Parts: sequence; structure tokens; C-alpha cells
Amino acid sequence: QPLVLQAFCDEILDDMQGMMKTGQHFVYQQLTDQKIIGVDGSMLRNILINLLVNASKYSSEGKIIELTTAIEGNLLLVTVRDEGIGIPDSDKEKLFINFFRARNAIHVQGTGLGLYIVKRYVDLLGGTISFTSQLDSGTTFTVQLPIYPVVA
Ligand code: ATP
Ligand code: MG
Repeated sequence: QPLVLQAFCDEILDDMQGMMKTGQHFVYQQLTDQKIIGVDGSMLRNILINLLVNASKYSSEGKIIELTTAIEGNLLLVTVRDEGIGIPDSDKEKLFINFFRARNAIHVQGTGLGLYIVKRYVDLLGGTISFTSQLDSGTTFTVQLPIYPVVA
């Protein structure tokens, strides 16, 4: 069940628009000419929604949330970038542990399961996830997922 990348991401962003904070908006950049991607759509959707909800939750009103997709070899690269509260250096290595929440996030509702589940899905798909973050300035998550060949 290959998916059309642009339409797939547009639909997710459309569905999410209503739950954003005031003035927050998505910018979506597709950096690949390859239109049809062989990847598990339901897992990819779950990964994207978790990262995008976090980007919104941990950013203030009016901030941009940027989604980019690219293909490198047989990998789909997805980045979700925000200009939010960031992650304290001392909490970075615990971020994918279940129920872990960073010290600067405790005033925001959450259970600390989203990224744990995302990491499990990425592992199941044979991919990788990483992030860079600067406290009070923003966070970027990068997911790499193997894609399977699609007969055009
Ligand atoms: P939920 O289970 O509802 O997703 P959560 O958002 O607290 O709850 P995770 O999504 O697993 O849990 O994220 C774990 C922690 O990582 C968060 O509590 C927060 O401290 C930090 N975090 C995740 N994404 C971001 C982000 N984009 N910016 C800043 N901190 C983040
Ligand atoms: Mg979350």
C-alpha cells in the first residue's frame, strides 16, 4: 500500500489545523521529486502526529512548525522543527523512556508516552530517530525510514 507523499502529509496537516494554538501554522516542504513512497502509512501517520502535536504543545502561540520530507537513497527523511521551549541538556538522553517528561514541560499536559511509542514504531520499521534542541529556542526531530521499491 504505497502512498502519495504530498497528499498524505497535506491530509495530516489539514486534520491537525484545528488543534493548534492561536496563530501557530505549519510549513510543509517536500524536497523530493519522488511522489509515491513505499512505507507503512498507519505507522508513519502515528509518528508524524505525535511529533507534530509535541511541536505545537511545546511551542507558544504564533510559532511556525516546519515539516520537511526528502528521499535519500532508499530512506525517507522526515524532519519536524519547532521554535518552542526546547529540551534541557540534562534531560536529552532520557527523552525516549516511557513516562519521562522534561523538567521544563511539567506545566503542559502529557503522559510521556508519545515519544516512547514513536521510537518503538521507528524501530519496528527499521529506521532511526534523533533530535537536536536548544533550550528556549527550539527542537528538530529527524526520522529516517527505509522505503521499499514501488512499481510505477
Ligand atoms: P504524551 O504521552 O501525551 O505525548 P508528552 O508529550 O509529555 O505526553 P512525549 O511525547 O513522549 O510525552 O515527550 C516526552 C517529553 O519530551 C515531553 O514531556 C517533553 O518534555 C519533551 N518533548 C517532546 N517533544 C518536545 C518538543 N518538540 N519540544 C520540547 N520538548 C519536547
Ligand atoms: Mg507527546
